Amino acid sequence: MDCIKCNIKTCRVTESCNSQKFDSDTLMSKYHLPDNQKIIQASATLVDNGRAGTLSRLQEIIEFSNEMNFKRIGLAYCYGMENDSALIAQIFRESGFKIYPVSCTTGGFKQSDVNYQSKIEKVSCNPLAQAEQINNELVNLTITVGLCLGHDILFQKHINSYTTTLIVKDRVYNNNPIEALKN
Ligand code: SF4
Repeated sequence: MDCIKCNIKTCRVTESCNSQKFDSDTLMSKYHLPDNQKIIQASATLVDNGRAGTLSRLQEIIEFSNEMNFKRIGLAYCYGMENDSALIAQIFRESGFKIYPVSCTTGGFKQSDVNYQSKIEKVSCNPLAQAEQINNELVNLTITVGLCLGHDILFQKHINSYTTTLIVKDRVYNNNPIEALKN
């Protein structure tokens, strides 16, 4: 399947095509599981009935969390974005949530210990500890802020809660990766 090169786009008028490698009935049953329905419905409230484009991503996460009745929010952040993360934490606290911010440097591991090819003795990003710490806070949702590429993959693999990204790190384009497409 290459949806970009496809000329028929029947899926956009609610018709499947013969390139699919999934069973539609099985997936529809999964959508109808109570946990998935809850998420689908909370997500729809953010955009249906003319609301699309009225909320920032930050506002969407707050509203989605309220719709889901989340109380405890993890904040897995890059230490270089601690000031921004402090503001995010404050906004969530003022919105009535318990927030658990955890820096990527938690645990104080050295780079030379984490990466056995490295001789750098400085503190390492520690996505496994970040995930473990947040798992132990029993949060309902974790928000990631500026995690390095690769560290974000390890983090997402090991976090137990639902996870969403608020800020993506892009060291060249001021954390706005789409800018790379314009050059
Ligand atoms: S019709 Fe099939 S191949 Fe074409 S865009 Fe839709 S899913 Fe992709």
